[in-house]
Amino acid sequence: MKAFAFGALAVAGGCAAPQPPAVAAAPTAVRAPAEAPRPRPSADAAPPPEPAAPPEPWAWVLPVDHGIRADRGGGGAFLAPRAHGSHNGVDLLAPVGTPVRAPCAGKARSGQNSSHGKWAQLVCPLPSELGLPKERRVSVFFAHLHQIAGLGDEPKDVAVGAALGSVGKSGNASSSIIAAHLHLELAVHDDEPHALADRHSGREQSDSAGAHELDAALRSRCLEPEGLAREGEPLWRARRADPFVMLTCLGARKPPYTRPQGKLAEASFAWSTRYRAKTFDVDREGFAPAPKKEQP
Ligand SMILES: [Zn+2]
Repeated sequence: MKAFAFGALAVAGGCAAPQPPAVAAAPTAVRAPAEAPRPRPSADAAPPPEPAAPPEPWAWVLPVDHGIRADRGGGGAFLAPRAHGSHNGVDLLAPVGTPVRAPCAGKARSGQNSSHGKWAQLVCPLPSELGLPKERRVSVFFAHLHQIAGLGDEPKDVAVGAALGSVGKSGNASSSIIAAHLHLELAVHDDEPHALADRHSGREQSDSAGAHELDAALRSRCLEPEGLAREGEPLWRARRADPFVMLTCLGARKPPYTRPQGKLAEASFAWSTRYRAKTFDVDREGFAPAPKKEQP
């Protein structure tokens, strides 16, 4: 009886959102006491655990928003068709030289290869309010850069908003039929070593426990209350998340969508051509971070 009551309390205390008492679903043969024992503070009690990370909303990655790229070279939406199956990120249309900023505080490295061109990788913890194990990490990957901040292969600490480089057409985005864009990709990993080891190869599609935990947290805290969705499309490809949904749900407030001038205009598609939300306009700045909202 005591063990059951303890278990019921542990489940109720671990949920992010208010839940009906766990005893309601208990088998009728076993009932928790009407007055469950409550933990009392005492001088001998261990101090409460420290928060995993300061609650800091994430930031948008560019100072302009020209929406999603789509041109004769292909579509830039998450999961658009690709030679290796599906697009692993989203292509943010922007002129060459547009600054790329860190959306979160974490550890960054950079390099260059034939497909991604000049790239930067940033590994960040998740906001503690989401209630995931504190070792979970997101690897944010930026490809086809024009310039990189010269971070090198050894991960270095960076703050939210730190300059990581600029938008370009390097690697396999150099063709004249592909408009300049930032390839942005997010993968959720179980811990920092795995996140830092992610090379964001298109064919590598391993899954992670952290991705499933974050999916559940985003559904209850952001996607369902805000009605944010992409018509008929999944928000995950194994460990990789839809970058627009992730940044929005983690509190990144973007500039309002504007159609670019000149040649880029024909490759520019507003977010509302793909996404919808009940409580905010996806083409404007986004909504207030879910963790800061009052519980009803
Ligand atoms: Zn891309």
